[in-house]
Amino acid sequence: MRVLMIAPPGADKGTQGALIAAHFGIPHIATGELLRDHVARRTDLGLAVQEYLDRGELVPDQVVLDIAREALVAAKAAGGGYVLDGIPRNMQQARAAYLIARELGMTADVALHLDAGDAEVTRRLLARAALEHRTDDTEEVIAQRLALYHQVTSPIICWYRDRGILVSVDAMRPAQQVGREILTALKAMRPLLDHGPAQARQPVDLTTLGEAFGVTGPVRTSLSRVHAAVERDNLADEALLWADTPYGQLPGCAGWSSSLLRTGRPGL
Ligand code: ADP
Repeated sequence: MRVLMIAPPGADKGTQGALIAAHFGIPHIATGELLRDHVARRTDLGLAVQEYLDRGELVPDQVVLDIAREALVAAKAAGGGYVLDGIPRNMQQARAAYLIARELGMTADVALHLDAGDAEVTRRLLARAALEHRTDDTEEVIAQRLALYHQVTSPIICWYRDRGILVSVDAMRPAQQVGREILTALKAMRPLLDHGPAQARQPVDLTTLGEAFGVTGPVRTSLSRVHAAVERDNLADEALLWADTPYGQLPGCAGWSSSLLRTGRPGL
């Protein structure tokens, strides 16, 4: 299982990334954690990036790409699965990370988007600040991180939707519930990731899961099918995940990503 995560700060990608990693027995590669570790150990790299982290700015692309490459090489030696948490964060990183993964023969199967609103993630981060004392969990820096997320990170989501590997989850609910839903979706997809043709993959949108049952429409139809399939453990039904729903019917992402980044290859 190869998963990359895209989420605003405070959406709990650390917790969910660790859960996925533990469940599938794969490495959890969290770029923020790796950078903070360098800062704590006062390595040359740590000293060079500390100010970026403190200000809530992105560290230079090449720094995180080097870190990601090293971690992906180790993940390959450990079996080839991974959860990438924190990268890519902008278009350049998306493109470069894809090329690195392709070179290693391990492009992502799933781009997992944790969807959460600004007010909720700000509330969570301020609550966390009292416990964890991260230098970037102040009101001002949180606002900066969120602004960057909307400006340069969230547009990548369209690319993954376009490529048919996007799974969106409503992350506004309690972590346990979100985690259950993520694992349910990933487990349902697994046999198809292992055996299905990559070009047959279609986006799955779980953000409205709570109201999905019995509701019609292109997105929600596929949602209830995911769940029906999981409940009946029926692989033939799971194949409906990959049914022929044009991504253009899904909300948002009006087609611009194709011209910028389409490489014609599945995955990361
Ligand atoms: P959050 O998502 O809550 O902001 P992270 O732990 O993912 O937390 O990232 C913390 C900080 O680490 C970011 O604000 C940024 O400075 C740096 N960082 C992490 N990943 C990247 C990346 N891919 N590109 C640039 N900077 C990054």
